[in-house]
Amino acid sequence: MAYHIDLAKNYCSCPHWKYQRLPVALRTCKHLRAAGQDPTTLQPLMTKRSHKPIHFQLFRNREPPLNMSSQHVASRKFNGIRVAWLPDGSLVTRGNNVIHRLPQFRRDFGGRKYTFDCELVKAGSSHTTHVDVMAAINSKQGLSDLWLALFDVIMNDNMNEPYVSRRRRLPSTIPENVNAVVVPLMMWPTMLSSARLRVIKEELRNLGWEGLVVRDAHETKRRKRVGYKVLAAVE
Ligand SMILES: [Zn+2]
Repeated sequence: MAYHIDLAKNYCSCPHWKYQRLPVALRTCKHLRAAGQDPTTLQPLMTKRSHKPIHFQLFRNREPPLNMSSQHVASRKFNGIRVAWLPDGSLVTRGNNVIHRLPQFRRDFGGRKYTFDCELVKAGSSHTTHVDVMAAINSKQGLSDLWLALFDVIMNDNMNEPYVSRRRRLPSTIPENVNAVVVPLMMWPTMLSSARLRVIKEELRNLGWEGLVVRDAHETKRRKRVGYKVLAAVE
């Protein structure tokens, strides 16, 4: 029986191809191999990591109080996949999976030694989600559109270093061929009215932003949930 093969789409109409419980990009069969399928494309981009999980700081899923006793800063909240960007160029998720072989993050720039805390997002729309990012990784389509939004430094030593100080260890310049950006910080008012907070949310919605993360400028890593989320107003 002759099967229909499309090498460009990594497709074959045979039952062996059809019933493989793998993303299309990772499936194989003897017909595709005979047609010249490149075996190096079959390694999954994401695999379970054997090292112990990386400790990510989490943010409180509620709004900051209107009256803050200490200085806080705000930065854009991104909706993608939270990852640690290791100095070797690999990305580790909160589920302790490692994402391999994304060439735009593998380049060395200046021998950096810190792990960065960031969000892996997809460029091209302000409304992309973690689903879009996962789809790109699973299908290996549109991988060059993936970007890292950097907002913190993950350090094993000196756990008491305040947030604004840790952030100075983020790169001040990133080469053009590396898809990464350091998320800028904004000062957050210590006194706020609920009317003003409503206006801020409205502005976020107009910008097409999901929201802001507001955190104590001088928090150290000893506290687990270190920030608040201000989500954009929904229409
Ligand atoms: Zn086949």
